[in-house]
Amino acid sequence: MKIYDRHYIGGGWVEAASSARFEVHDSSTEEVMAQVPQGTAQEAEQAVHAARTAFPKWAALSVEERCRYIDRVIEGLNKRQKEMATVISREVGTPIRVSTPVQVGGPIYQWKAAAKIARSFSWEAKVGNSTVHRVPIGVVGCITPWNFPLNQISLKVAPALAAGCTVVLKPSEIAPVNAMILAEVIHEAGLPAGVFNMVLGSGTEVGEVLASHPEVDMVSFTGSTRAGTRVAELAAPGVKRVTLELGGKSPSVILPDADLASAVKGTLSMCMLNNGQTCSAHTRMLVHESQFDLAADLAAKSVARLTVGPSLEESTRLGPLVSAVQRDKVLGYIQSALDEGAQPIVMGDQSFDRGYFVAPAIFGVNSGHTIANEEVFGPVLSILQYKDEDEAVALANATQYGLAAGVWSGDQSRATSIARRIRAGQVDINGAPFNMKAPFGGFKRSGLGREAGVYGFEEFLEYQSLQYAPDSSDA
Ligand code: NDP
Repeated sequence: MKIYDRHYIGGGWVEAASSARFEVHDSSTEEVMAQVPQGTAQEAEQAVHAARTAFPKWAALSVEERCRYIDRVIEGLNKRQKEMATVISREVGTPIRVSTPVQVGGPIYQWKAAAKIARSFSWEAKVGNSTVHRVPIGVVGCITPWNFPLNQISLKVAPALAAGCTVVLKPSEIAPVNAMILAEVIHEAGLPAGVFNMVLGSGTEVGEVLASHPEVDMVSFTGSTRAGTRVAELAAPGVKRVTLELGGKSPSVILPDADLASAVKGTLSMCMLNNGQTCSAHTRMLVHESQFDLAADLAAKSVARLTVGPSLEESTRLGPLVSAVQRDKVLGYIQSALDEGAQPIVMGDQSFDRGYFVAPAIFGVNSGHTIANEEVFGPVLSILQYKDEDEAVALANATQYGLAAGVWSGDQSRATSIARRIRAGQVDINGAPFNMKAPFGGFKRSGLGREAGVYGFEEFLEYQSLQYAPDSSDA
């Protein structure tokens, strides 16, 4: 077991003020794999002060100078890929064959993309007698979740630094070891003191300081709608910019002319990615009433092929959930489905000797059932039936969320017209692959703002217009 007892503040590792620590569990074995400090409000304040002090000089560097530091972070991450994938598989439960490309490859891509975007960005434009500059917003508080921990950190920290902002990161207490490794990499890359700071700790203590601190200009939050709402409330009196990447209950609409077998298989894999612990998981499969029995049968066959096992085994397709709390929450949702009379299609045996495993479950539901509405965050698929396209669209939109969706049809223009009626930030047509350059984020209670690509980069910038008199030689 590894013990971490320091935060990263002002360019160095600072002894934690309190000896209280969080335990980090290996989700496959339940063993304690690490301990990290429970930071205090005072340490969060110290980190904000360091970020504020470092901001003017970092912002004044040339884009190329900032990007060279980012290039060094990428080199460091590349060297530690294997270690990072193993750590995240143990912390989160992600099968190792998914961790390597998604939990580590994805974040490295985000660091590369941030530098590339910054280097090619149009930092100023002429508008009449104004020169409109894009300038970094300032000190950014980044608060991140446990499910794709390094990816969610990288989607914020990399573009913020490339834009010229300084950062205080508070990673999830549940999966923080990957963030410790990242901080080590950033330290070795030699970033100027205070540009990047990280305080471990709970959301209610450290996170709330970042959300409310007058010296923080922007809070970039990813997590639950509940915590995101609290962050927005705390940030409001300071008129901070807030971006929120929150939960989802995303539909996959299968039209009757779709290739049903591919559509069901594709929906299942979008639902079960990372053992169902994915904000954009397609957890509601909408099928025409005439195809329900066949779709249910195909889904049952498809899920039976997913090998459940320890996250570090190569053969594993579905690992454990992140924690005992998460496992119990998901088992509670499965029980609620049974209690409310949903139709069990697949009900795996839930007896496991150790590890936070949940066997996958599939239910035929109606829109009144709890699991048709709430984010389960586990390997549970709900199948709903519709009579016609209008009802399919109405059901797809009958959710407080609007993060993602899928539409399947043999006719791409028909799929597109349905997709455009769905109130969600990302709609995949016929199982199209994830595009890391496209804006990612939600409508409705799935969030505010966007991450990824140039859209995510611009969230960390302000506009400044300089007006010149028409006859000025500077104009
Ligand atoms: P939580 O909302 O519980 O936690 C997210 C982060 O917020 C953690 O760092 C947490 O700290 C912190 N936090 C909690 N309460 C507060 C508070 N009052 N003030 C400030 N910070 C706070 O989410 P989970 O970690 O459980 O992650 C799962 C959720 O994240 C799901 O709802 C999922 O949909 C969403 N998500 C959304 C994504 C998107 O891009 N839309 C991507 C990934 C996940 P602590 O360490 O104490 O938990």
